[in-house]
Amino acid sequence: AKQAGRNQYYAYTPNLKAMAERNLTIVNGLSTALANDEFTLYYQPQIDTHTNRILGLEALIRWKSPELGFVSPAQFIPIAEDTGMIKLIGDWVLNAAFKQTKQLVDEGYVDILVSVNLSAHQLREPLFAKRVAELLQQYKLTPRNICLEITESTAIFDLKKSLEICRALVELGISLSIDDFGTGFSSLSMLNRFPFKYIKIDRSLIQDIAMNINEAKVVQTIIELADRLGMRVIAEGVETEQQLSLLRNLGCHEVQGYLTGRPMPREQLMVFLEDYKK
Ligand code: C2E
Ligand code: CA
Ligand code: CA
Ligand code: CA
Repeated sequence: AKQAGRNQYYAYTPNLKAMAERNLTIVNGLSTALANDEFTLYYQPQIDTHTNRILGLEALIRWKSPELGFVSPAQFIPIAEDTGMIKLIGDWVLNAAFKQTKQLVDEGYVDILVSVNLSAHQLREPLFAKRVAELLQQYKLTPRNICLEITESTAIFDLKKSLEICRALVELGISLSIDDFGTGFSSLSMLNRFPFKYIKIDRSLIQDIAMNINEAKVVQTIIELADRLGMRVIAEGVETEQQLSLLRNLGCHEVQGYLTGRPMPREQLMVFLEDYKK
C-alpha cells in the first residue's frame, strides 16, 4: 500500500502543478477578457418532443483566450466565481443575451424563450431583480421571452435570499428553470419551495435510459412528478434517437442535446432557425 501511495505521489505531482499553472493563466486571462471582447454566447435549441418545433434556446458562454484557446465554461466559471470576476461576467452574459433575444424577436421569432444560466453570485445580489427589470426595459423585451436557469448549488448559499430574488423575478413575468435536476441532494425540497416552471433533467440521468430500465423509470417518475406540479420537463444531453423516442413515449415535453442541435454561434443559429421553419 505504501508503494502504491508513493507511486501515486510521483504520478500526480506534475499534474497538480500543471493544473495550478493553468488556473493561474485562467485567472490572469479572465481579468482582461471582457475588455478585449473575448466572450461570446452560443445557443443550443430546445425542441418540443411532440411537434418538433424549437421552443427555446439556452445561452452558453464561450471564451476564446489568446493564450489557451477555447476554455470550457465548466472550467472558467467556477474560477470566476471564486475570484469575484463572475460579477462582471454574469452581467455581460445577461446584457448580451437580452440584446440578442430582442434581435430574434424583431426578426420574427416572437415566441422564442431564451434561457440564461445564473451564477450563485447573482442570486445573492439584492438588486438583481431590479437589474433584470432594467434590462427588459432597456431592450423593450417582454419577460415572456426570458427564462433563468438556477441549479441547486446556485441557490444553496443563502436559500432565503435566493428565494426572495426568485419570487421577484417571477413577479416580473420571467420564468425559472431548475437546472441539472437529479444531481443534488435535496432537489425535491427545492421544487416545493421555489417557483420553477421548468425542470431540466441532468444528462447523467438521461445517458443510460435506453439501456437501463431502472434509469428510465427514474426519468418517468420525474416527468410524472412535474406533470402533477404543473411543470414542464426538458431532458438535457439527448444524443441518440433511442433516447429521444423513449423520452417522447414517457411524455417528456422538451429535449436539448447534440442530437437535435449543438450549441452554435449566433450566425449559425440564424441559419438553423431559418432552415427549421421550412
Ligand atoms: P449546463 O448549464 O448544464 O449546460 C449544458 C452543458 O451541456 C453545456 O456545456 C452544453 O454544451 C452541454 N451539452 C449540451 N448537449 C449535450 C449533449 O448532447 N452531450 C453532451 N455531452 N453535452 C451536451 P457547456 O456549454 O460547456 O457549459 C458547461 C457549464 O458551464 C454549463 O452547464 C453551466 O453550468 C456553465 N455555463 C455555461 N454558460 C454559462 C453562463 O453564461 N453563465 C454561467 N453562470 N454559467 C454558464
Ligand atoms: Ca443550464
Ligand atoms: Ca444543465
Ligand atoms: Ca451543469
